[in-house]
Amino acid sequence: MFDGLSDKLSGILNSLTRRGALTEEDVNAALREVRRALLEADVALEVVRSFTDKVRARAVGAEVIKSVSPGQQVVKIVHDQLVEMLGADAEVIDLNAAPPVAILMVGLQGSGKTTTTAKIAKRLTDREKRKVLLASLDTRRPAAMEQLAVLGKQVGVDTLPIVAGQSAVQIARRAMEAARLGGYDVVMLDTAGRVTVDEGLMLEAAEVKAATDPHEVLLVADALTGQDAVNTARAFDQRLGVTGIVLTRMDGDARGGAALSMRAVTGKPIKLIGTGEKVDALEEFHPSRVASRILG
Ligand code: GDP
Repeated sequence: MFDGLSDKLSGILNSLTRRGALTEEDVNAALREVRRALLEADVALEVVRSFTDKVRARAVGAEVIKSVSPGQQVVKIVHDQLVEMLGADAEVIDLNAAPPVAILMVGLQGSGKTTTTAKIAKRLTDREKRKVLLASLDTRRPAAMEQLAVLGKQVGVDTLPIVAGQSAVQIARRAMEAARLGGYDVVMLDTAGRVTVDEGLMLEAAEVKAATDPHEVLLVADALTGQDAVNTARAFDQRLGVTGIVLTRMDGDARGGAALSMRAVTGKPIKLIGTGEKVDALEEFHPSRVASRILG
């Protein structure tokens, strides 16, 4: 994760800290290299531009350049700006509502949505001692319903019994009712994934949202798809009002462009990251830790 970018940024910033005095031109030259490194990491152009503008505005001030350790100051400014770009504070899944709290899981097919649903269910069960009910709304793909049932069993979380012939909204309503009667704290609704963002998918998910009033709408996106993941998030957010993002396959993402651009472009926080195929390969996303990791 972020390895290439981390190597480059550390190199650029180290060369600044090694020098005693800095000129405005030194800082500008370093920022040009920072800009190139971010673009190579597939960070969205608008995000790169705003990032370097903000760092420049703070770093070329007379106070920084004339300070005892100007290089260190620039490094701190870059760090702070990275944290701001990533979203400042870590955000967690919000369950602060009357139970059963509905969580709507949305995303493209293959993004890792069903696996992530099971991972989150396991986390809420094991760490927060919540009683969770899982329901698949993928009426067109019986295999997807089966997959959730299998994963649910694997992580020790109940799944709503499958009833053939029901619509997504009917299943969602049945899930909420079963959760009420069964004393569940959380209902996770795994919506149907499609290969692309399409109108039918959005309409169906919007109907489910209206019927269940979810407290969280989590968009699952594949980090390996880079800026496509960011664009997907924006499209889902416009139609469904996303409350948070789960970025999967971070274990295989050497560049980091989706993770680095997501917050700045969509305004929505990355709440969790998927770091492997196993059901416990799910981590919180801490902007300050990520920034420190990137700067080595
Ligand atoms: P869905 O179509 O969006 O529901 O996707 P699935 O949940 O079926 O996941 C598709 C594939 O991606 C499966 O083989 C998962 O094991 C894998 N997968 C999901 N999340 C991650 C992750 O964070 N890292 C890796 N390496 N694989 C993942």
